Amino acid sequence: MSKTTITFWSGLQTIGGNIAEIRYGNARVIFDFGLVYNPSTSFVHKATGRSDRYVLDLLKIGAIPAIDGIYAREDLKDNVFNFKKPIAYEDFKMNTGIFISHLHLDHMGVIDTVASTIPIYMSNGSKQLYQVLNKINEGLMRERDVTGINYQDSIKIGDIIVTPFQTDHDIYGSMAMLISTPDLKVVYSGDIRMHGQHPEYNKAWLEKLLDINIDLLLMEGTAFHPNLTEKTKIPLVETETEIAQVIKREIINHNRLVLFNIYHRNIDRLNNFIKTGKQCERTIVLELKTAYIADQFAEVTDFAIFVPNDSKESDWNQNILEKYPRVTIEQINATPNKYLLQNSFDNIADLLDLDVSGSIYLHSNGMPLGEFDPNYQILLSFLKQFQIEYKSFNVSGHATQEDILQLIEDIKPKLLVPWHSHYPELMKPLDPNQAVFLPRKNKKYFFDNGQLIEV
Ligand SMILES: [Zn+2]
Ligand SMILES: [Zn+2]
Repeated sequence: MSKTTITFWSGLQTIGGNIAEIRYGNARVIFDFGLVYNPSTSFVHKATGRSDRYVLDLLKIGAIPAIDGIYAREDLKDNVFNFKKPIAYEDFKMNTGIFISHLHLDHMGVIDTVASTIPIYMSNGSKQLYQVLNKINEGLMRERDVTGINYQDSIKIGDIIVTPFQTDHDIYGSMAMLISTPDLKVVYSGDIRMHGQHPEYNKAWLEKLLDINIDLLLMEGTAFHPNLTEKTKIPLVETETEIAQVIKREIINHNRLVLFNIYHRNIDRLNNFIKTGKQCERTIVLELKTAYIADQFAEVTDFAIFVPNDSKESDWNQNILEKYPRVTIEQINATPNKYLLQNSFDNIADLLDLDVSGSIYLHSNGMPLGEFDPNYQILLSFLKQFQIEYKSFNVSGHATQEDILQLIEDIKPKLLVPWHSHYPELMKPLDPNQAVFLPRKNKKYFFDNGQLIEV
């Protein structure tokens, strides 16, 4: 029987919001600390005048788990009604480290609720992106320091050793991790895909794991769905490299303004749009925030910045406004066929000022992501109103079912725990002898003879 225990706090039957805790002695490692998409949570995020009650509000609506010893006493002050609160950090001494696999909100959206003295680790690439997002006012509700770590450099929390590995996912800086205690070896895949721009990252860490006997594999299962046609209702482009060719075809065949909507934390996608725009001899025009990100991370910085009439200079954007050419609404309207213009959902009203007759809107994993988001219908009706042709070109950030099953086969853990999936029970390993376990939320388990046993 292992002295190590593991608790799954969230993310077992949802896509995202994964939070698990591994304890050994007086040390523990918690990995990922994000939000499950939920409109009531975004309401709390935006509720004004309640910033001093931020942590309590999220606890009350169940958006963050009631884990003892991670929230500051100050944040748990509440006299309103009798609500069972977790023990405050100051009253529960335990050596704790939190590790973040990547910067999607479903994996890190609530790290700002954690007591400021608990270290939060992420890859150096993630930290760099995190700082840039703070700069462009796209950070979390509260300021929170994080610690950057090198891939493959181990971090020790008491007797627990965490080793991060670079992975390929649709965001900059993602990692998987090996968590080793004196009696248990756990691999957490993070979010991962094999059809991205960098399959070699995944091959490299898989190779590192070959000589290690893994007890437990926590594997993401986004792609597992009983109804594949349902899942693929929105046409998917198969690989990240293919997207460049597909959008190139669209742009070349169009003689009016081309609009696009991407998620700018996906640097590979940003690169693909910038390069393709250039190949099609269009000026690629980025929104200010994306331009700031591109300035820091993009391979090619041959772009202009969109400056709508009401835009103001502020501290963070002054430098890039001086560094790159600016394009105005009037310039675009004079020759719309010369531009490839970014338009994210937040700036959809800009279309009211543009000559969008005969335009096409390339939606490529930008927000709103799909029908589950109420903003999706707003987007479609807006485009319909102006007869802008909508085309969706998504590339999944998540491995296909086949690729996930092959990964499990390669890692060969003693026990597989599928999560980050609406249908974890559908993850059926290729090897019929591969043990699989679906744990229960908020229960503490120890590992014994290849099984997780509830304490
Ligand atoms: Zn995720
Ligand atoms: Zn992700």
